[in-house]
Amino acid sequence: MTHSELFQRACAVIPGGVNSPVRAFNAVGGTPLFITSGKGSRITTADGRTLIDCCCSWGAMILGHAAEVVTEAVAKAAEKGTTFGIATPGEIDLAERLVAASPLLESVRLVNSGTEAVMTAVRLARGVTGRDVILKCEGCYHGHSDGLLVSAGSGVRTAGDGAEVACAGSPRQVAKDTLVIPYNDLAAAERAFAAYGDQIAAVIVEPVAGNMGCVPPVEGYLKGLERVAHRSGALLICDEVINAFRFRYGLYSDTAGIAPDIITMGKVIGGGFPLAAVGAKTEIMRALAPCGKVYQAGTLSGNPVAVAAAIAVLNVLKANPPYAEMAAKAARVTTAINEAAARAGVPLRAQRYETVFTPFATDALPMRNLTEAQRSDAALYARFFHGMLARGVYFEPSQFEVNFISAAHTDADVEAICAAATETLMAL
Ligand SMILES: *Cc1c(COP(=O)(O)O)cnc(C)c1O
Repeated sequence: MTHSELFQRACAVIPGGVNSPVRAFNAVGGTPLFITSGKGSRITTADGRTLIDCCCSWGAMILGHAAEVVTEAVAKAAEKGTTFGIATPGEIDLAERLVAASPLLESVRLVNSGTEAVMTAVRLARGVTGRDVILKCEGCYHGHSDGLLVSAGSGVRTAGDGAEVACAGSPRQVAKDTLVIPYNDLAAAERAFAAYGDQIAAVIVEPVAGNMGCVPPVEGYLKGLERVAHRSGALLICDEVINAFRFRYGLYSDTAGIAPDIITMGKVIGGGFPLAAVGAKTEIMRALAPCGKVYQAGTLSGNPVAVAAAIAVLNVLKANPPYAEMAAKAARVTTAINEAAARAGVPLRAQRYETVFTPFATDALPMRNLTEAQRSDAALYARFFHGMLARGVYFEPSQFEVNFISAAHTDADVEAICAAATETLMAL
């Protein structure tokens, strides 16, 4: 069946034809893809094309698609029953691995999505501090819960009269407890704390931002956020749903030398399954039910199949860390893009952090915040995206996202991506 036929069928029974908005290609136009299978670095579409995949399920597939260690672990786990709603030993194994990976984590709770992890982190921060206000950065995405959709970057719009609301259906009352500051702007954070410091429960940040495109923190920013938050008795929440285990085996916060009070993890640690986690020092985590009064729960939380996948992935990442090689490959791709764009006179430049990168349709790098990122040319990016797609490479269907190099991308894949980018940019 063609994608148009599938899309038509989908639209009849699924709003917009998709189960998550960015999949609809609104930012780049054209008919969304339907994927029938994936293996390693490749995905196969319903109309029979094979593409090199740089979305990697938004970073979740760090070992590539259908890695044998994962599918075997999953099959074995599934044979023993897929959910009990009762504790299983595997959950302890996974929690022990996460705790061992960072001194910041003494205790973790497993949940089903990054959204849930952040909801729990925020409730925990409010419960521990007895305060309501959350400070977040423009363009950082923390899942689709009400308070955190305010200025949440890719895919989300602001609407409403007067008080900014996150999106239609999100109460103004909730949005009022979310203050927004520009990312990478410590002075703005200091001003927010000077004005509302005694009401702020936590400042939440994506340490390396990925949801306004790849925007790394400027020198001293994260340490500064930690300092101003703690000075006011507020907590620092690092949303490492993308970052954790993406750049090294462990947390980005440890690389940055910061000490967030609560950390959320997802994507990579889920091993391609609906699994995420929230973690902190024991003292904070003990505020969660059943130890404490902050309620949180989940029918499928710590699901044994998801846990088996997660453990399989973490084992590989620990035994054979692929990070340096992945970063070198990502660097080759961004260098090729930037050189070809410069030669072709196309105002498009890729910004990279380690293993992730974003081609912004502008030549005004670096990008440090959402306002700067939004100066790039959406129409030009759409043409670049479709040029890459026509040449067999699937980049993110929006420039306000990051592309991922996985451990499954081979040298030949990298060559093919570079060649496709060069051809595409010459044609623009
Ligand atoms: C993807 C993402 C989330 C939400 O995770 P879901 O599993 O999609 O709910 C939260 N925070 C960040 C930083 C993310 O990138």
